[in-house]
Amino acid sequence: MEWVDLRSDTVTRPTAAMRAAMLAAEVGDDVYGEDPTVNALQQRLADELGFDAGLFVPSGTQSNLLALMSHCERGDEYLVGADAHTYKFEGGGAAVLGSIQPQPIVQAADGSLPLERIEAAIKPVDPHFARTRVLALEDTWHGRTLPLDYLQAAHDVARAHGLGLHLDGARLFNAAVAGGVPAREIARHFDTVSVCLSKGLGAPVGSVLLGSHALVDKARRWRKVTGGGWRQAGMLAAAGQYALDHHVARLADDHRRAAYLAGRLREIAGIDLLGQYTNMVFVDVPAGRLRELDAHLREACIRISIGYLPTLRLVTHLDVDDDGVERVVAAFSAFFARR
Ligand SMILES: *Cc1c(COP(=O)(O)O)cnc(C)c1O
Repeated sequence: MEWVDLRSDTVTRPTAAMRAAMLAAEVGDDVYGEDPTVNALQQRLADELGFDAGLFVPSGTQSNLLALMSHCERGDEYLVGADAHTYKFEGGGAAVLGSIQPQPIVQAADGSLPLERIEAAIKPVDPHFARTRVLALEDTWHGRTLPLDYLQAAHDVARAHGLGLHLDGARLFNAAVAGGVPAREIARHFDTVSVCLSKGLGAPVGSVLLGSHALVDKARRWRKVTGGGWRQAGMLAAAGQYALDHHVARLADDHRRAAYLAGRLREIAGIDLLGQYTNMVFVDVPAGRLRELDAHLREACIRISIGYLPTLRLVTHLDVDDDGVERVVAAFSAFFARR
């Protein structure tokens, strides 16, 4: 039996057709700017999202770091959600490697940073304070999409204070597909956008940072400095190109399956459905039964990630089909029917 892995959409594996595209890729040395497939991927996403240039990098963590290091100098500050990836889940990289201070902002339930909290956090120009330089948002955040009118308002507040804007758009295309808008409509509110190809889009590796020529040139330098300059990366860029050609519209299938899964789990006594947003379902189960549930699901070839919390995040993606979802529903039902 195939595993149904609901831990994350990072677990997707390249399809046979994607692997064929990778094998056929023309390559060159990307540190010299000579990899035609990398260059094509960067320019294609830049054009599609409305930017001058793009930079293909190994990970979303590095892409966000390079963006912050390009916007900021030593002693500058970025405003960021207290539960944002760029604050909480990237090892403090901006502070560690960029000498950039994060100013976390407590988020609203929908993931937005309330405008009054943004304004209150912007520091006066005074030697006592770090210089507030950038507002960093995330869309989707825990699967939730930020409304376009919020993006406009946040943009206006940031601009009124001379701040740059960065989007951690690891799942930008999930947000675009869910909102029924071109990704460009979301991206246009930002100076830099980071997009992951390795999540629901199904590429094995890679993110692209988009921005102006000036910001992307800075980011390219920092990429080299942080050890991210790579050589014949065109084989990976080919996977990204394939993903953008074939795996964007189908994100709607992941969202549909997540909605279906949520609807079925809601009916099971013992499970508290907290919500479903794009490709993520959040449920609470009794904390004392988590380990036992995990073991039960593994026997049915289903993987979930259990932390310290009773809240489970179940993520649908390219490698979870309708049969897989039915197996998940059946396994949860059987477990909670037992006691
Ligand atoms: C996964 C993710 C990243 C970072 O991606 P990696 O490639 O794993 O470094 C950044 N932001 C968000 C919101 C993510 O989900």
